[in-house]
Amino acid sequence: MQPISGLHHVTAIAGPAQENLDFYAGVLGMRLVKKSVNQDDPGTYHLFYADAEGHPGTDLTFFPWAQLAPHQEGHGLSTEVSLAVPPGSLGFWSGRLARYGIKINSPEVRFGQHVLPLVDPHGLRLALTESQSSPGRSFTPWERSPIPVEHQIRGLESARLVEHDLAPTLSFLRDGLGFREIGVENGWTRYALGEGTSGQYLELRAEPGARRGAWGTGSVHHIAWRMRDDAHELAVRQNVAEHGAEPTPVIDRFWFKSVYFREPGGVLFELATDGPGFGVDEGQATLGESLVLPPWLEGERSAIEAALPKLTAP
Ligand code: ZN
Repeated sequence: MQPISGLHHVTAIAGPAQENLDFYAGVLGMRLVKKSVNQDDPGTYHLFYADAEGHPGTDLTFFPWAQLAPHQEGHGLSTEVSLAVPPGSLGFWSGRLARYGIKINSPEVRFGQHVLPLVDPHGLRLALTESQSSPGRSFTPWERSPIPVEHQIRGLESARLVEHDLAPTLSFLRDGLGFREIGVENGWTRYALGEGTSGQYLELRAEPGARRGAWGTGSVHHIAWRMRDDAHELAVRQNVAEHGAEPTPVIDRFWFKSVYFREPGGVLFELATDGPGFGVDEGQATLGESLVLPPWLEGERSAIEAALPKLTAP
């Protein structure tokens, strides 16, 4: 099995779509690179925020399910998403987030990195992390972002998982996906893929006394890992199945091909191919500006558009 190069995207559950757009595009300055619908629930948007070109590894996506209750913290969930920012930029970010009334927590140093933890408007925990290492992903600045290029979010840095029992998950990460342990600090175990650089980390903590967490607004829905191509995805799919996971068949998401499974602690993972990418059905210049539907829903476009809340670019 060829190595996995890192995080592909993270998908989370948001509240009202306009508030989600205002925060991720307007406050954090990410580019809305795709406006689509949940393929299993076309009455709900699926919004994708990334760098200017939607490179794999820069992408945070949301299902705005405003009718859901807030999530229940506990084990079996990813509890935080870390976004890479350039060294020295946290002062800029703490000032900006404070001006917008965003809940920020005390700065921390984690595994030698400066981190600004915050909570998005719908309860999702984020951590802006000053990232020194040169990542294995590409980044294109977004020239229409409200954020100066030198402070723009570079992509996904890492994610945190809380588990009832760490051992089965750690074995699975090692044997099924090729991770290795690179550190333990303040109760968190840091695992890494490849070189162990930005976008290749997972941090895990056991909370045996916690109850099972539950999805709701503000929770991570799933974490996706980069596959080089279809053959790589099939090889990893086979390998995770041999290590106890029950992967779905390959599902064509048009911008990438996906396989889903739960790791032993219950967190939903996805394998997603790097290609063909978000430019497959829209021009790069106008990514995210119009609603993109899968072919089988095109016939219902007018009804779907009428049912979705109107979105205004911030
Ligand atoms: Zn996904």
